[in-house]
Amino acid sequence: MKFGEAIRNFSGGRALIGQCPEARLPVPVYETAFALSKWLEENGDRQSATITVVSPTSIRSEFEDDNMATTLSEAMEKQHIEYLPNFPISRIGSNAIETAGGHELDYSLLMLLPPFRGSSAISRLGITNEEGYVNADWTMKVIGIDRVYAVGDCVNFAGPKMGHMAVHQGEVAAASLVAEIAGHEPVSHYHHDVTMVLDAGDRESIYFHKDLWADDPASIRHGRFWSWAKRIHEKYWEATHA
Ligand SMILES: Cc1cc2nc3c(=O)[nH]c(=O)nc-3n(C[C@H](O)[C@H](O)[C@H](O)COP(=O)(O)OP(=O)(O)OC[C@H]3O[C@@H](n4cnc5c(N)ncnc54)[C@H](O)[C@@H]3O)c2cc1C
Repeated sequence: MKFGEAIRNFSGGRALIGQCPEARLPVPVYETAFALSKWLEENGDRQSATITVVSPTSIRSEFEDDNMATTLSEAMEKQHIEYLPNFPISRIGSNAIETAGGHELDYSLLMLLPPFRGSSAISRLGITNEEGYVNADWTMKVIGIDRVYAVGDCVNFAGPKMGHMAVHQGEVAAASLVAEIAGHEPVSHYHHDVTMVLDAGDRESIYFHKDLWADDPASIRHGRFWSWAKRIHEKYWEATHA
């Protein structure tokens, strides 16, 4: 059954949404929880549904920021979304999930992001870390092998893995490749930061920006403007990359 169909058929009980250990993709989890809460309010019976978000770690470690932990926890509380941190799922049953420590949680509807890994095809080249992600420097050149560049989810950089990072890395890798072919030093450098707008229900949205290679605190903003700005940016992006 497709997820949309499963949601339409969901008639109460617990909707369990979360990440398996090492999933590295928190944003869709929280957005799905907020979107489901809103959808149930408008089309279903929100009162008879419990929405629970589980995380193998915590919001603080997912976004590497304390303020985001407070902001997101408050937004979930406002929408009556339960949050269970430090719930590393080790077993999935037909109506319950379980941790290795024996904690169990039942569900009627389940959406889980699986663990992420690097590609097994390159695992024997000696260029990956223990999770199979490719070691690259900030010109996107692969460490330990000549004339090879890597970009995107496969690269061994800390923090969440996101599309805008992959695109930026692609631009840097292309410039580095051109420089290498021309016999110059690389001039373009990747900078690892996360920028996102998280729709938090009730037309509320959270803007988050953090430099993942610096200790500076994140920049966080709230308000309806950011949701609107996200839609405009999406249209601009589609138009310029079609
Ligand atoms: C549910 C979900 C929601 C997300 N939401 C957001 C978001 O809101 N914002 C955001 O910035 N990011 C988001 N992301 C993350 C974003 O999609 C990824 O970071 C981005 O797509 C990574 O780009 P990539 O090119 O590295 O990998 P991919 O986009 O995964 O592309 C890899 C391609 O390689 C192909 N491939 C794999 N193995 C092989 C093989 N052996 N041979 C040939 N081809 C192969 C795959 O089929 C795929 O087409 C989301 C991801 C998911 C799963």
